[in-house]
Amino acid sequence: MKFGKPKKKINTFYPPQRTLMGPGPSEIHPRVFSAMGRPTIGYLDPVFVEMMDELKELLRYAFQTNNAMTFPVSGPGSAGMEMCFVNMVSPGEKVIVCRNGVFGGRMLENVERCGGIPIIVDDTWGQPIDVDKVEDAFKANKDVKVLAFVHAETSTGVASDAKNLAKVAKKHNAFTIMDAVTSLAGIPVLIDEWAVDACYSGSQKCLSCTPGLSPITFSDELIEKLHEKPNKNKSQSWFLDLDLLTGYWGDTNRTYHHTAPTNSLYSLHEALLMLQEEGLENSWFRHRRNHQALKAGLEALGLNFIVDKPHRLPQMNAVSVMPGVNEADVRKRLLAEYNIEIGAGLGDLAGQIWRFGIMGYSCKMENVMLALCALETVFSDMGVNVEVGTAEAAAYKAYASHPSNLKIEAVA
Ligand SMILES: *Cc1c(COP(=O)(O)O)cnc(C)c1O
Repeated sequence: MKFGKPKKKINTFYPPQRTLMGPGPSEIHPRVFSAMGRPTIGYLDPVFVEMMDELKELLRYAFQTNNAMTFPVSGPGSAGMEMCFVNMVSPGEKVIVCRNGVFGGRMLENVERCGGIPIIVDDTWGQPIDVDKVEDAFKANKDVKVLAFVHAETSTGVASDAKNLAKVAKKHNAFTIMDAVTSLAGIPVLIDEWAVDACYSGSQKCLSCTPGLSPITFSDELIEKLHEKPNKNKSQSWFLDLDLLTGYWGDTNRTYHHTAPTNSLYSLHEALLMLQEEGLENSWFRHRRNHQALKAGLEALGLNFIVDKPHRLPQMNAVSVMPGVNEADVRKRLLAEYNIEIGAGLGDLAGQIWRFGIMGYSCKMENVMLALCALETVFSDMGVNVEVGTAEAAAYKAYASHPSNLKIEAVA
């Protein structure tokens, strides 16, 4: 035999238990894990098909939509992103792309690869997309087919005004592609109310499911118009072709397209059941409440948010690294000594910020308190002037003034 058995160090892979407070994946509830370990069945088994129908219904609740084509793409958030562009952008078509962080930049890449003509609206990283600039871009360019923007920019922790961005697109007869990977279940995402045409998310952020699935939704009107398109070219992607996938995820005549990741879909079903049990508003409220406490603690340590208060995402908290502190060393020590993962800066912000994610099942009091305690001791060891206990006291005060039984209206 030419190839002998590989020499392996690992006989069975058992990862450490980490506290996940980065940009995703988030922690996963044991119920979701155990759902994944259930027996694999065929992707057209009638029992599985019944579960698929319910999964679509649960996703409609999460997206707050009646859209028939609402289902999970077999692939990470990036696959959902690509699916929107390959089906909605034909060569030569104009697309306004908003870019105020890393993920807006990826949308631009998608437009270019589809042969679209990008019209870029740039905003400073850490600031929301300027709706007036988008309006101006529409006025300056006739025949724009699509507006693409990121609702919750994970690279900076900023939320943009999705409602008004979608409104501007409608006014100018363009479709909207919205990235809701980090926003879904963490802050309101109201697809029908805002009239967003296409939106994708990810399983591993505020939904707290295993990574590798991308919930997506397309409006009925969009699908109709895509079919009316003169000389409709076939989508450049076979795997992400909306028509072909409708054959599997649509309501009738289910046929084989690709082998669905059955066990991952069980876990998404379970995560969505948990979301429904908690209630969307309560999930938004939980993210906001834990954010208030984390914010109070981080600020008590002298850390400053890079995003202005009204535009901060509760689930993604980006703060500037204090001068004289080695950014990477802090992250390394948090991981080695406390098993805590936090996020580093990406792109232009590399080395300048830390990102504290509190998404989904990671968004809980014990994580906030642990992270603050860990930061204090690590800072203290590194010679930063902090008093251990200060951050927890500030966080505790914030929790006390935002009781968990307060309704969402009180903090919206
Ligand atoms: C994480 C993320 C993505 C990409 O999702 P993957 O699952 O990593 O492919 C896209 N957009 C935003 C805003 C994200 O936070």
